[in-house]
Amino acid sequence: MNNCIFCKIINGEIPSAKIYEDELVYAFLDISPINFGHTLVIPKEHHESASTIPEHIAGRMFHVASRIGIALKRELDLDGYNLHLADGLAAGQVVMHAHLHVVPRGVEDDFHWNWRQLVYPEGKMAEIAAAAAGRLKLD
Ligand code: AMP
Ligand code: ZN
Repeated sequence: MNNCIFCKIINGEIPSAKIYEDELVYAFLDISPINFGHTLVIPKEHHESASTIPEHIAGRMFHVASRIGIALKRELDLDGYNLHLADGLAAGQVVMHAHLHVVPRGVEDDFHWNWRQLVYPEGKMAEIAAAAAGRLKLD
């Protein structure tokens, strides 16, 4: 994956503000943060989609991300953090090496997720739940 910017960061070809690494994951500051301390946790293996990351690596990403969230909260004296993952262009994924965002949050940080709240028509909720369950493939 020679052209992948995050693989280059892991290999040290592009500089990064590293917070943590182990044999499975690498964590560094996002260069254009929502709030200072905004961090990206990435698998060392190149995966475009989170769905192909082996479970033990995905689990490590989540574990490290949530611990970094706690560390940032304490260090920056903030109130919470969001974990965010964009999978696919339509979801806003720009860098095609799967990554988990850790966004430290303050109560008055003036950042609002643009999260709408639709209402299901009668029966639609049960229909979608059943259809999704039918297509779900887990190993
Ligand atoms: P996404 O939209 O989820 O694909 O997020 C990609 C993120 O990568 C963005 O928030 C960028 O600011 C961040 N990013 C891109 N290049 C770099 C880099 N060289 N170092 C740190 N963060 C980067
Ligand atoms: Zn990569």
